[in-house]
Parts: sequence; C-alpha cells; structure tokens
Amino acid sequence: MRRRSRVMHVVGARPNFVKLSPVMRALSAHPLKQLLVHTGQHYDHEMSEIFFQQLKLPQPDFHLRVGPGTPTEQTARIMIALEKTIRNAQPDLVIVYGDVTSSLAAALVCSKNSIRLAHVEAGLRSNDRTMPEEINRLLIDRVADILFAPIEEARKNLIREGVHRGQIHVVGNVAIDTLVQHLHEIPSPDIGLPDRYMLVTLHRPSNADNNSFLKTFLQALDELSDQMAIVFPVHPRIRERIEKLRHREVLSKIKFTGPLGYLQFLALEKNAHVVLTDSGGVQAETTFLRVPCIILRNRTEVSSGKRVDANSVVGQTVPQLKKAVQRILAGDWKMPSVPKFWDGEAATRIADTITKQV
Ligand code: UDP
Repeated sequence: MRRRSRVMHVVGARPNFVKLSPVMRALSAHPLKQLLVHTGQHYDHEMSEIFFQQLKLPQPDFHLRVGPGTPTEQTARIMIALEKTIRNAQPDLVIVYGDVTSSLAAALVCSKNSIRLAHVEAGLRSNDRTMPEEINRLLIDRVADILFAPIEEARKNLIREGVHRGQIHVVGNVAIDTLVQHLHEIPSPDIGLPDRYMLVTLHRPSNADNNSFLKTFLQALDELSDQMAIVFPVHPRIRERIEKLRHREVLSKIKFTGPLGYLQFLALEKNAHVVLTDSGGVQAETTFLRVPCIILRNRTEVSSGKRVDANSVVGQTVPQLKKAVQRILAGDWKMPSVPKFWDGEAATRIADTITKQV
C-alpha cells in the first residue's frame, strides 16, 4: 500500500506561528500526514508557547531547541539538527513561512537533501539588501519549488528574477486568514488605555540595534504622548536597550509592556488610533483592519508603492514621523487598499495546490 504523503512545516519565530495555523487547518482536510518542526529560534513563552495555545496549534513533532545566538549560529544549528530530522522523517515536501532565519536554514537543508520546498509568502521584496530578511527572502525563493505569493506584485518580482511562471501561485495572505478567523474572539483592550491611543512595535535590526535612533525615537514618543496615549509592547530583542534608556530618560507617559499574546495584541491593534511599526505582519494587519499605520523603515516589502501612502514610510526620520502623526490626528490620511485574495481563504488555495503536487 502506498504510504500517505508527508508534508513537514518548519517554523521557529512569532510571525511563523500566525501563518502556520490556517495552513495546517486547511491541509488537515486532505489525506496527508503533517509533521511539525519547531526550531526554537523564538523560545520565550510570550513569543512562542502562547501562540500555540491561542491558535490551538498541535505540539511540534520535533523541537530542535536551538536557543539564542547570532543569526549565523542559529542558522548553522538549525541546519545540522534539521538535516537529521528530515533524513529520519523523510517528508515529501517541506513548507517554510516568511523571511525568518529558521525559514532560510530549512530551505538550505531541503536544497542540499533534494527535498521539495514550498515557500508561503514568496516574492515580497523591499529592494533593501541591508535588511537581513531581504536576503533570506531572495535565497529562499531561489531554491523553492512551489512559491505562494501574497500579492500580485510578488508574482511580478519573481518572474523578473527568472522564476518559472508555473511555480508561482498568488493565493493571498495567510496571516489575514488567521486574523479573519479570530476577529470574533478578540477581547477588549484591558490595560487601562483611553479611547484614543497609539500602538508601537519595533524589532528590525536596523532600528532595534541602533542606540542613537532608539534614543531620539523614544524622545519623540515622549513628546507625542502629550497628544495621545502610547502603548509599546517591547520585543525581547530591544528589551535591554529600552530598559537602559528608560532609566536615563523620563518616559513615564509611555506604557511599556512585554510582547503580547496574539489575541491581546490584535485587540490593541484593531482599536488603535494609529500604529507605528517596522513589522511586516503588523503593516498587513492594519491594512486589513483599516487602521492608519506609520512605517518605521525606508522601504517596505508588504505592499507595492502604489498601495502604500508614501507619507506613511518615514524611515528613521523623526520630523517626518511627527508630521505623519499630525496628519492622522487631523484626519488627512489615505488608507491603502486591501489586496485581492486577502479574504480569509489563502490557506485553502495553498492546500488545494499542495495536494495536487505531493
Ligand atoms: N504580534 C503579537 N504580539 C505582539 C506583537 C506582534 O502577537 O506583541 C503579532 C502581530 O499581530 C503579527 C505578528 O505578531 O501577527 C508579527 O510578528 P513580528 O512583528 O514579530 O514579525 P514580522 O511580521 O515583522 O516578520
């Protein structure tokens, strides 16, 4: 008797868990065996376990527990451990998500072991090669066999880079599937905020590892907090730096929290007056939720230039950031349009394609 096809998901970081959830669910309607690998790239309860609980994800079949380290150390450790896992489990297809270190490490292992690879969220490009995530995206898409693009522009990017048309499937955004699925169970924000507040997240190395930017940024936030309450769930990557700066500067008006669980964060995001972020996922979610979003990067891969209001991409320029906030407060703000297929069904399209190919 022919053995059931085996599909292995490799995840390791917060945004992966959000994207994994609808794909596992959609694939479970098909006669496949699914295997889940957690690399351990993110290991704090608030960055990992809480997502498994809230999104009702199954416990991983394999936990590589690579733990902390530089991106190179983590990549190397994941590759060594994952190669053993893959040789034992013999999947017919591996699926990776987004642009994190774990996804690149898994893509390289698949390539070296002739295992077919699918990439969910393929083709996004910021065209900024100083971003480690951009290099991850380029390399993963180079070796992937099946490329699931979240927007039409991503397809165009891939074709421009020489990917065969037949390998690319524009399916929509799986993180929006998760959002749509959980919208009805979002709790009300319960951390003592007024109706009008700004939500801030920051974790890209170019921002998070830049002390002088962080200092001016926090000072700007402190000034803005005279006009609007501010809540800032702090990513572990910048926890220490923020702590140090908090002791030196007076930042008493900003409400700092640790990283929040998915549902708690969504509650804050949905009800925010403005979101300030360098996160790709948060940009996409605010587009869907119709919440004004200011992007703390020079370039963004999430939407095409046409969709993003150029004024919302403020990089590290504090005067531009303040100007953008004033425009939002004055109601002078154009929301980007919601791309095609961001409808809660992206994972179903992915599952339909995968079952035809394994
Ligand atoms: N998120 C969360 N808690 C937080 C901050 C973000 O649950 O405190 C969620 C957010 O809703 C989105 C995802 O994490 O679904 C984005 O992850 P992140 O910003 O770490 O990565 P990126 O999207 O930039 O790759």
